Amino acid sequence: MYHLDEIRKDFPILQRTIYNKPLVYLDNAATTQKPLCVTNAISEMYNTLNANVHRGVHFLSQRATDLHEAARERVRSFINARSAAEIIFTRGTTEGINLVASSFGEAFLSEGDEVIVSTMEHHSNIVPWQLLRDRKGIVLKVIPIDDAGNLDMDGYEALFTQRTKLVSVAHVSNVLGTINPVKRLAEIAHAHGAKILVDGAQSTPHFAVDVQDMDCDFFAFSGHKVYGPTGIGVLYGKESLLDSMPPYHGGGEMIARVTFEHTTYERLPFKFEAGTPNYVGTHALATALDYVSVLGMDVISAHERELTAYAMEQLRSLPGIKFFGESAEKDAVVAFNIADIHPLDLGTLLDRLGIAIRTGHHCAQPLMQRYGVESMARASFALYNTKAEVDAFVAALDRVRKMF
Ligand code: PMP
Repeated sequence: MYHLDEIRKDFPILQRTIYNKPLVYLDNAATTQKPLCVTNAISEMYNTLNANVHRGVHFLSQRATDLHEAARERVRSFINARSAAEIIFTRGTTEGINLVASSFGEAFLSEGDEVIVSTMEHHSNIVPWQLLRDRKGIVLKVIPIDDAGNLDMDGYEALFTQRTKLVSVAHVSNVLGTINPVKRLAEIAHAHGAKILVDGAQSTPHFAVDVQDMDCDFFAFSGHKVYGPTGIGVLYGKESLLDSMPPYHGGGEMIARVTFEHTTYERLPFKFEAGTPNYVGTHALATALDYVSVLGMDVISAHERELTAYAMEQLRSLPGIKFFGESAEKDAVVAFNIADIHPLDLGTLLDRLGIAIRTGHHCAQPLMQRYGVESMARASFALYNTKAEVDAFVAALDRVRKMF
């Protein structure tokens, strides 16, 4: 059973007020709030177990190493990777994508080779490829979308040529909420001899992910969006592919032997983890993954889908509302504009009523251009949000609307 009252007690920040109003936090696609077990894991680690990992023979170092490597195993099982060697710890989704652009790009892409992204990508899945384009002369191609926010699958297939080497797409759009058919996208990419990277920043918090089932070659996500701390993330890659790629950063931890003449590299995943890892972050991330797994990703998903459908239904009754993203396969994100109220004004006035939403371009300016707007308002839901909060949000929105 899903006991929201009990669950909400796990998140102390949800009890606070903003301008003397109860906080209604609907900016979960930007980052989620943290349960006590996660913040406790961080303070316990620093207060009782802190030591640098991997190189120490002493008790604390070994214990910290055990927790850090146990976290890797925890991530492996969370996304159902075949091996823990395929789990590379990063700072977040952005770093994971940059790692692939840099390392896969170095090994496998040359002038004229093509990378496919989609119209709905976050800037972090656009700019790294543009940087690579500047360095290597690759060609960036873009999958079109329809008005409801679905990928144009025929348009996708039509983009492939002999030179297409990689597809890089969001699992779930952080604006439209569209859940992209990544399994089918992967099949098509593979049929054309290309690899596929899936940006899982907005999927891992909301439903169970299985990298073997979707058969992606790379999968990146961020800890802070799935109730873990900031500054920790994961890049999954198929082992044989990662093995064939050069290191991304050089330094300690990633080497086997160094002389001034020649350096050999550590085995996976350490080859891609130069420097002291964020071992407190990995342990806290594993704690967060345990937390959502105990609740059950399927249960979380059902709750959030219901809440999103309810929010859409309530909002639809407001005159002048326009939604962006009405795919049948939609996750817990509602992007909208209302009448000709500027989203920034909307966000500012809602804030005075204790309601946190996000407004702006959502790091997806090409998507804004696709819909012919500069900015949108966005409410996004998490496992702890309630129908009462949706009601408060809709009532506040109506109040603000009437002020204009
Ligand atoms: N991709 C998507 C779809 C996102 O929503 C985000 C975060 N808004 C990112 C990538 C980047 O994640 P991070 O900033 O944690 O690296």
